[in-house]
Amino acid sequence: MEAPVTGPTRASAADIPSLDRLLNASSFASLIERYGRTQVTSVLRAYLDTLRPPALSGALTQASLADDAIAAAVESMLIEASRPRMRQVFNLTGTVLHTNLGRAVLPEEAVRAVVQALTAPVNLEFDLSAGKRGDRDSLVDELLCELTGAEAATVVNNNAAAVLLMLSTLAHRREVVISRGELIEIGGAFRMPDIMRQAGAKLVEVGTTNRTHPADYAQAVNPRTALLLKVHTSNYAISGFTGSVSVDELAELGRAHSIPVAVDLGSGSLVDLSRWHLPKEPTVRETVEGGADVVTFSGDKLLGGPQAGLVVGRRDLISKLKKHPLKRALRVGKLTLAALEAVLRIYRAPELLDDRLTALRLLTRAPAAMHAQATRLHPVVQRAVGNAYDVAPAQMFSQIGSGALPVDQLPSYGLRIKPIKGKRASVVRLSSALHALPRPVIGRIAEKALWLDLRCLENAEEAAFAAQLDDLHL
Ligand SMILES: *Cc1c(COP(=O)(O)O)cnc(C)c1O
Repeated sequence: MEAPVTGPTRASAADIPSLDRLLNASSFASLIERYGRTQVTSVLRAYLDTLRPPALSGALTQASLADDAIAAAVESMLIEASRPRMRQVFNLTGTVLHTNLGRAVLPEEAVRAVVQALTAPVNLEFDLSAGKRGDRDSLVDELLCELTGAEAATVVNNNAAAVLLMLSTLAHRREVVISRGELIEIGGAFRMPDIMRQAGAKLVEVGTTNRTHPADYAQAVNPRTALLLKVHTSNYAISGFTGSVSVDELAELGRAHSIPVAVDLGSGSLVDLSRWHLPKEPTVRETVEGGADVVTFSGDKLLGGPQAGLVVGRRDLISKLKKHPLKRALRVGKLTLAALEAVLRIYRAPELLDDRLTALRLLTRAPAAMHAQATRLHPVVQRAVGNAYDVAPAQMFSQIGSGALPVDQLPSYGLRIKPIKGKRASVVRLSSALHALPRPVIGRIAEKALWLDLRCLENAEEAAFAAQLDDLHL
């Protein structure tokens, strides 16, 4: 409650200027030019309404009713209202491909390609050599085949869409055999049994949670079987007494019964990550060469590109997928294709990948570089958070994220911030204050400390990170 104002500075409700007069006052001219009359009018009206209660209770001053004072208040409301809801943040969570933070950050080449596709007409579905209508998949399908060894390829909105399209096309009203150890849920809304039902396919579970043998699949095969499906258990690991059937074994069984084998790879790396001492994931090429007839994977996980669902495999099967009505509903736009094409081109120079592909550059960042950065930022962050918190450089472990390799962790460095007992300090308050910065900083709370993993703070962004810490309000 504001203190009542007395004497001649006190303003009453009758002193509040009229909307019409203010809109024509010189103080408002530049606001109207920038934001338009409609927006300024509605914000100004809302602001004048907020002045009535304090005017009635005697808490309003004449000074606050000056044209310039009202214009300044309205301007800050307009600035706040025009701030984009989607904002850049600093991902210091330690999870490189963070689904909630938009997964892969795209390389510069992809950004340029997207801007080109945004600012002029493009040959999205126009065959320039034939001079007639073309197929948008043809912008990337040759590259996808070259990089995976597959015969044909198609692209949809995300991998969940790829699996839905694949099942709807190849297994509608028929049976799909899948191991009980692979009936996965990925991030709540994507559950294999639910997708099967949506696609009108009948799920036939075989084996047990921890072990499934080739004979389990063989016994389930009958004339209604449409597909043998293998799902990469991306976001969980079964360890101990386990056994699953390899793509090769499944392909052998499929060939014997003329039943296609589909593999949902999830992350679907195009290169062997062990080359960079990262944990090994099955590559799309290995899966195709192992005999899979259709392989689905995401564009924005380990591939490091835009959100997309990629399907590669046998020409006849891909051709059926492309003709299904769902393909039209699930198709990608030109921005996705522009980014995807640029990212796939980077893969043609695999030896340069860890420098050019942003996601891989972050995943392979040298611990020494992060250690040096932690040492540099330590005093800066300590000064910003004040003496109620203890900041220390610390070793921590990053994750690849997006379901890839849930068990393996990458050694990394960062800052661990602990509230000091007896002082007015809390990790939750600190975390909220970091979220409130102009470019929010997202860390991770664990063991009563806030951890800022520096893996994803590239050196080029370090100055911007440090500079805005002056705005931290704890
Ligand atoms: C991530 C994942 C999906 C879903 O992919 P989106 O691109 O997020 O739709 C499906 N299957 C597996 C095995 C996954 O890992």
